[in-house]
Amino acid sequence: MTHLSDIEIANQVKMKPITDIAEKLSIPRESLSLYGEYKAKINVSKIGDLENTERGKLILVTAITPTPAGEGKTTTSVGLVDALSKVGKKAAIALREPSLGPVFGVKGGAAGGGHAQVVPMEDINLHFTGDFHAIGAANNLLAALLDNHIHQGNSLGIDSRRITWKRVVDMNDRQLRYIVNGLQGRVNGVPREDGYDITVASEIMAVLCLANSITDLKEKLRKMIVAYTFDGKPVTAGDLKAEGAMTALLKEAIQPNIVQTLEHSPAFIHGGPFANIAHGCNSVLATKLALKYADYAVTEAGFGADLGAEKFVDIKCRLADLKPDAVVLVATIRALKMHGGVKKADLGTENVEAVLKGLPNLEKHLSNIQEVYGMPVIVAINKFPTDTDAELSAVEKACEERGVEVSLSDVWAKGGEGAVDLANKVIELAEKENNFSFVYDTKDSIEEKLNKIVQKVYGGAKVELTAGARKQLKELKEHGFDDYPICMAKTQYSFSDDATLLGAPKDFTVTIRNLKISAGAGFIVALTGAVMTMPGLPKSPAAERIDVDVDGNISGLF
Ligand code: ADP
Ligand code: MG
Repeated sequence: MTHLSDIEIANQVKMKPITDIAEKLSIPRESLSLYGEYKAKINVSKIGDLENTERGKLILVTAITPTPAGEGKTTTSVGLVDALSKVGKKAAIALREPSLGPVFGVKGGAAGGGHAQVVPMEDINLHFTGDFHAIGAANNLLAALLDNHIHQGNSLGIDSRRITWKRVVDMNDRQLRYIVNGLQGRVNGVPREDGYDITVASEIMAVLCLANSITDLKEKLRKMIVAYTFDGKPVTAGDLKAEGAMTALLKEAIQPNIVQTLEHSPAFIHGGPFANIAHGCNSVLATKLALKYADYAVTEAGFGADLGAEKFVDIKCRLADLKPDAVVLVATIRALKMHGGVKKADLGTENVEAVLKGLPNLEKHLSNIQEVYGMPVIVAINKFPTDTDAELSAVEKACEERGVEVSLSDVWAKGGEGAVDLANKVIELAEKENNFSFVYDTKDSIEEKLNKIVQKVYGGAKVELTAGARKQLKELKEHGFDDYPICMAKTQYSFSDDATLLGAPKDFTVTIRNLKISAGAGFIVALTGAVMTMPGLPKSPAAERIDVDVDGNISGLF
């Protein structure tokens, strides 16, 4: 079998006009703004009520603790929606938009892979409908207004050493992490230390993804904290009178995008907050559209089920009043082997013993989903070309022994056909009893909330706050932010805050180094260890292999 690249596979498929795709879900034609033939935005003010409406089943796709390559949540989600369509269900998918950072860095695109992709993949992975550029512009407008305020006399008394708002660019560019600006004398601004984040790490991205309407968006933007005054009071975007102009820049970006999968299932792709300093899932509006118009809405939460799914439950579902009906836990043989102690270079060699040794990681995620989040779950083994039958059946057997549904998913090689069994099982599972619950109550104290996440979800002993974090905790209480939910920023490679602790570690302590309020998005970010808000490029960036021919055909995207 010749091995085609993702973009080659995508190019072989003839897309359908996006109006046909929207029609499948009976989305009103007058709500569509067409961006060419295959992309559209849906104007949510031109459709009926998104809240008081009959809703389809919400299927959350999450994963075991991943390897750096990713375990295939997006790929599995896309294959699952195509399989649901194949068995006759009205299904749609809601996903994040990719960021240019990873596209040109190590990970590549984020539009699925193999025969389970969303298309037009080159548009989706590059500028798409311009949402991220709009978010960058809104973010940088606020930064310009802030520095201008200081330059023009600083009537708010902003302490330029306590500015928390950064400029952004949607690129992995470590050179911009720490900068000094405003140099060259009085006419050129006030000199200060500054830095850039990647656009997807902007609080505006999180705000846009949690907003229920354009007025809600404006209100959330108004509350964002940008700096502190000399006497320690928060300064907001509202204090700088920035929210109106920012909302004007975001008026198209807040409208969800619709595209299609390779098998023409509808795909809502909208928003892309980082899964570390933000909650890591697509917009609430996209999810609610999928739920309104489809009987099955499949969506993905970033990283493993300890991080992405926990934030999906405790932040997104709580703030947007959503309730998942079933969870698909994606597992791969290669990740299980890694948890079983196998080195990256040897992951391609058969090793049933290592697979078995890695199972405690899968089991801990399973018991979290069932017992902590209270949802029915099925394991989808995402089949890779290197997996052997002995390895695959070892995992199947372990799940069956535990009384957990399991299905072998081969969507990367076969598209929707590769997940018909998974789809049928998901349909059954979504009818099962559901004891959906949050990990903590927002009324719990901040320390209690942190301890509940660490003890119930991670399997650790407790949290420990550094002296700096304890000081911030005191400030958060003083400013009245203590009943916000928590957004954990932790390594995705371990249940603990130590990326090298694989499997299902126990009795560890998680150190909270920093507590930062995202007052617009509505959560407290708890940073454990160094969290990257501006990634860098690797030695050999994917960008070096991307090209375009005389007809505009792009190659090298994956
Ligand atoms: P996640 O959403 O969990 O980060 P993705 O679905 O984006 O993972 O997949 C990560 C990478 O692995 C992608 O490049 C994808 O094409 C590839 N991939 C996913 N599933 C398979 C598979 N079964 N076989 C081979 N490659 C796969
Ligand atoms: Mg993904």
